[in-house]
Amino acid sequence: MKRFHLFLLSVLSLIFTSCGGGFLDFVPLSVDQDLGLQSQAEINSSPQTFKVLDPSLYPKPYKEMYLIRDKILSSGKVAHKDDFAWELKIIEDDSVLNAFCLPGGYIYVYTGLIKYLDTEDALAGVLGHEMAHADLRHSTDQLVKNAGLSFVIQLIFGVDNSTLVNLGANLLSLSFSRSDENDADMQSVEYLYNTDLDARGASRFFQKLQTDQKDPGVIEFISTHPNPEHRVQKIINKWKELGGKTGETYKPEYQKLKKKLP
Ligand SMILES: [Zn+2]
Repeated sequence: MKRFHLFLLSVLSLIFTSCGGGFLDFVPLSVDQDLGLQSQAEINSSPQTFKVLDPSLYPKPYKEMYLIRDKILSSGKVAHKDDFAWELKIIEDDSVLNAFCLPGGYIYVYTGLIKYLDTEDALAGVLGHEMAHADLRHSTDQLVKNAGLSFVIQLIFGVDNSTLVNLGANLLSLSFSRSDENDADMQSVEYLYNTDLDARGASRFFQKLQTDQKDPGVIEFISTHPNPEHRVQKIINKWKELGGKTGETYKPEYQKLKKKLP
């Protein structure tokens, strides 16, 4: 068995080196789904930290959040639209200005972020950014890079579940590289450009952060997401590159959505 693995290792090394791409293309999508589910289990086991709003008690905000998600999914630009779950949960915590998306498409949005923003395109821009991290498989890529080639081989030929449990739990503390952040910003513009929403949505969030730099919640956010001003400019440049079409912001509708939250 060991000799077989050694043989595979050399063959795969050759393939990876010659095609120039990363290992990611060789890692089955089921790995993303499993990692996401493991992290989701972690979240569900900490209801004090992650107070997920019950969709049956708050059907209206969930319905509207799902409509925004659907606009992104229908953009024709989400590579893994049909492969991942794209399930959405709202976490009740007004002090957190954030959202995240686990591998396999498990989206979490904090009430703090929804209440902080003013328009639907801004929320869609942030959702698009988070969904892009899952769609571009950034966490899986990072885990694979950190864990090395033998891990990739295990993933291809079936990894034992305890390894994924550990990795899934670690995922929640993982942060993305600057280049992953930039890619997710650009992808968000691509997604929104094919909807009725204004594709500069995510830039409105960063612009607002820049204005409120002294707010404690903002200080914490900026510590992990530096240089909001550069990101605004890059998003606008990308939007111009795509043709500079002005989309809808749905400000009055968004204000109504905010009022439906606890
Ligand atoms: Zn990000």
